[in-house]
Parts: sequence; C-alpha cells; structure tokens
Amino acid sequence: MTAQLIKGTEIREQILDEIEKEVKEIKEKHNVVPGLVTILVGENPASVSYVSLKVKTAERLGYKEIQDNQPEDISEEDLLALIDKYNKDDSIHGILVQLPLPDHIDDKKILNAIDPDKDVDGFHPVNVGRLMIGGSEVKFPPCTPAGIQEMIVRAGVETSGAEVVVVGRSNIVGKPIAIMMCQKGKGANSTVTIVHTRTKDLEGHCKRADILIVAAGVPGLVKPEWIKKGACVIDVGVNRVGEKISEKTGKKVAILRGDVDFDAAKEIAGYITPVPGGVGPMTITMLMRNTLNSLKFRQGLM
Ligand code: NAP
Repeated sequence: MTAQLIKGTEIREQILDEIEKEVKEIKEKHNVVPGLVTILVGENPASVSYVSLKVKTAERLGYKEIQDNQPEDISEEDLLALIDKYNKDDSIHGILVQLPLPDHIDDKKILNAIDPDKDVDGFHPVNVGRLMIGGSEVKFPPCTPAGIQEMIVRAGVETSGAEVVVVGRSNIVGKPIAIMMCQKGKGANSTVTIVHTRTKDLEGHCKRADILIVAAGVPGLVKPEWIKKGACVIDVGVNRVGEKISEKTGKKVAILRGDVDFDAAKEIAGYITPVPGGVGPMTITMLMRNTLNSLKFRQGLM
C-alpha cells in the first residue's frame, strides 16, 4: 500500500484563499482589517526567517502587519510596556512575541502580559484553560495543533471513536493536540493516549493507533513496524540532520527529517504527512486564521 500524502503546502493555499476572501468581505462591509504585530527581540537567524514568512503571509492576506524589532538588550520592563501599548491599540487583534527571548527576560512574564483576547498563539493560561473546557469556550487553539487537526479533517480521516496516540507531551504540541482530539465535536471524539520518554511500551501503543501523531524531535524514532496498516500518520518532527546545496538557489540549506521513517512508513500507512511540506506550513496559516477570528470576535461576527 502507498499512503495518501497529506500535503500542508496544498492545504495552506486552500485555507489562505478562504481567509483572503473573508478579509475582503469584512473590509468592504465593516471597513476594518485584521491587525497583527510581531515583536522580535534580537537577531536569532531562525526567528528572523520565521518572522519574515509571517510578515509575507499577513501582507498577502491584506492584514495590517507591524513588524516591531527590538534590540537584544531591551529590558523586561520596556518589553512589558511595549506589550501594554499593543494591548490598548484597537487596530491590533493579534500580538505575537517571537520565542526564544534573551536569557535576561522571563518568557512566562512576557507571554502572560499579552491580553488573552489578542493572544493568537494561544499560549496564555486563559486560552489554555479555554482549550481544556472546549466547545464554544475555545478562542485561539494553539497554531501547530490546530494545523494538525485541520489536516486530519481535510484529508477526510474519521476521528470519531478513533484510537489516537500522541508521541510527546510538550505544551505547544503534544498536550494541546491530545486535548483537542478527545473533545466533543468535529475532527475530534477520539480515544487518546499520550506517550513520552517514561512510557513502558512505546511500540505497543503506536501499533494500536488509527491516528499516530508524532512530536518528539527525534529523527526516525517511529519505525515502520510500529505503524498499523492503513493508519493516519502525522509527523510533526522537524530535525536538521545535515546540510546540502540547494539546486534552486545554489545556497547551503538544511536537510530536514521527520520523527518517522517516511520512506518505509508510506508503504504501510493509509495517510502520511511529509517532512518538509507537511505540518510545517500549517502553523503560520492557523496563526492567520486566529488573527482573523480575533477581529471577528471583536466585531461580534463570531
Ligand atoms: P519538546 O518540547 O522537546 O517535546 C518533545 C516530547 O517528545 C517530550 O514530551 C518528550 O518526552 C518526547 N520524546 C522525546 N524523545 C522521545 C522518545 N525517544 N520516546 C518517547 N517520547 C519522546 O518538542 P516540541 O516542541 O513538542 O517539538 C517536537 C518536534 O516537533 C520537534 O522536532 C519540533 O521541531 C517540531 N515542531 C514542528 C512544528 C511545525 O512544524 N510547525 C511546530 C512545533 C514543533 P519527555 O516529556 O518525557 O521528555
């Protein structure tokens, strides 16, 4: 069997087209566009390239986009004051602070200072609580888990009653996607198991999964023999395993590998996401959707 590929690159385009259309309609009717500010402290190369992709996507969609770059040595106090300024700015619906922050700044303090109704990353404890309650309480599901769920739904994979196994228990991927999959509602109603480094029989759990979501950050951790025939495999892992020269640009680029042995796994799974081009492109897409939804909540359109 050769698995059906669930391509994030294609699903991203569908969703961005839907968002773009909605933004135009809202602008025509209400004369307002989603406003997103991205605060970048310092010049971490990975953060710079991720942030520039966010800016490009926001601009394509017709958002008001503010790229607020701050020096590495900005004080915690000044950063808190900046967040306060954007919390009070009515033209801004989403505030995003790019992580990691320099060591002298307390990440938690900064993220908790963002108005929960502008926390489009969904990391504020209020939004984590809303996610846990589920249903109409949820405002901003965290972007990577939201992207994973969207891919499963759009691929037409049945989630109701499905055995879902999530490898990894991080706050940004493993725990939230596990909660989302076991809630009542569309793309959920699953029976969920979370596994991690202390799990006794990792292989045995993975073998039971109708939907296997892997977010461990260990290249090739999941072996093909751990996969149930016909299962849906979502590989969240993005691991740099080397460098190569890009044929397109002639520049050095990272060789990326997922947490699943893709070539062998695609012969067993029913559905599988590639790395790169799978879950990766979904994160920024869902950030854009959360920002649009933030505007809709504010305007009473949701
Ligand atoms: P993380 O915070 O490092 O968490 C990794 C989790 O995997 C931990 O819970 C850890 O267990 C578990 N784990 C690690 N090795 C394991 C093993 N051998 N067996 C069982 N469990 C194991 O990582 P993360 O932030 O969730 O990210 C995970 C991966 O997803 C990374 O490759 C990251 O780059 C990628 N990622 C991609 C996107 C995207 O595509 N948009 C977004 C976020 C993350 P313990 O808790 O027991 O240590």
